Amino acid sequence: MNSMDFRLTDRQIHWQAIAQEFAQQRVAPIAREMDESGEMPLSLIGEMAELGLLGGTLPKSLGGSEMDHVSLALVYEELGRACSSVRGFMTVHSSLVMQCINQWGTEEQKSRYLPAMASGEVIGCYALTEPEAGSDVASIQTIAKKSSVQIENQNFYSLTGEKIWITNGTIARIGIVFAKLDTLHEKKPHEQVTAFLVRLNNPDIERTRMPGEPLGHRASDHARIVFRDTPLSDLPVLGGEGMGFKVAMSALEHGRLGVAAGALGVHQACLDACVAFAKERKQFGKRIGDFEMIQSAIAEMKATLDASRLLVYRAAWMKDQGLPTKLETSIAKYFAANAACKAASEAVLLHGGRGYSNEYPVERYYRDIKGLQIYEGTEHIQKIVIAWELLKEPGLRGL
Ligand SMILES: Cc1cc2nc3c(=O)[nH]c(=O)nc-3n(C[C@H](O)[C@H](O)[C@H](O)COP(=O)(O)OP(=O)(O)OC[C@H]3O[C@@H](n4cnc5c(N)ncnc54)[C@H](O)[C@@H]3O)c2cc1C
Repeated sequence: MNSMDFRLTDRQIHWQAIAQEFAQQRVAPIAREMDESGEMPLSLIGEMAELGLLGGTLPKSLGGSEMDHVSLALVYEELGRACSSVRGFMTVHSSLVMQCINQWGTEEQKSRYLPAMASGEVIGCYALTEPEAGSDVASIQTIAKKSSVQIENQNFYSLTGEKIWITNGTIARIGIVFAKLDTLHEKKPHEQVTAFLVRLNNPDIERTRMPGEPLGHRASDHARIVFRDTPLSDLPVLGGEGMGFKVAMSALEHGRLGVAAGALGVHQACLDACVAFAKERKQFGKRIGDFEMIQSAIAEMKATLDASRLLVYRAAWMKDQGLPTKLETSIAKYFAANAACKAASEAVLLHGGRGYSNEYPVERYYRDIKGLQIYEGTEHIQKIVIAWELLKEPGLRGL
């Protein structure tokens, strides 16, 4: 194991620089336009694939870029600094879905989907949330029926149910969809959950944009997906029947680290905007940055950003050492999202009336960051995970 060293390696600096250049030159200039139009240009996905960003930590043999987890966190941080919708797209596609297939998939499933996903040809989504099941994953109502007929040793399944808030949901061609398997109905609720790899380019699957205007992440593709006795094509089970709860939780652990890193980016963007504005805006014959209350706000923003960074990089570094990171990932997500929410709120205030208009980007940061406190386990759920990790007795089922 490496000793403690806060410097980034050459490889990490390399990925940070690639992501920063892409985010600042290709994403940041159109971030406001994307927010207003509610669309992310699909060409950005091809560009991210071309740069090797989508391949993330996956092995080269599967089309991946073999980044370490610290590098991947740096990529999400840079994307988050420019636009949370673009960062959100990639966290779902590359961390929640690709890393999950890589962890749980058979060799055939991995080679079928992962190279095409790394190249951006196939987009992925992760479909867990339902109208009646959000934080309480084991209460999902989507049902998978297993046919009693087997052909050439293959089982056949069909899905019925409704998923909501699914990021990348209308553009995705493959989804990890969680359902309860009918043949496991006598087991405990979480032991019935099974993960299915579902090919979504099937006209019988109803996919529509979520109703209403979201507070933030307005360029993200959030969908409602309805399955009505949808037959699943071959090799659909990911990780084994009844293993879906574990698959879901492990995927969320990958995703949560990406969300925490994205929060660093939003936090940094708030700080950058505030420092620039505090130097330029004059009131009472002085730069507002000369007032102690403004200095206090900026100092707190910087101190909490550094604290968040250390927590996020620690969790990523631990992943790279092969250590368990459930506790550290939840701490990082909880702390970094909260700290960035506070920073965004302060940033709007510090900009005065200008902060309230989309002429300046801080109002978008303020709207976007709230989502990071909610998805992939709310702030409350992160606290539950943290407390359970500290209080659990051997054998207690965790979130
Ligand atoms: C922008 C965005 C993108 C999303 N993308 C996806 C996606 O790609 N895939 C997907 O499957 N889902 C996605 N979601 C859904 C998201 O994961 C859920 O909204 C989230 O898990 C919370 O579930 P819920 O909305 O049903 O809230 P609920 O679970 O109903 O929670 C409501 C409130 O009760 C609190 N609460 C619940 N249980 C407890 C408890 N035991 N103790 C204390 N408080 C509790 C919650 O913290 C929350 O404050 C997305 C949501 C958003 C906003």
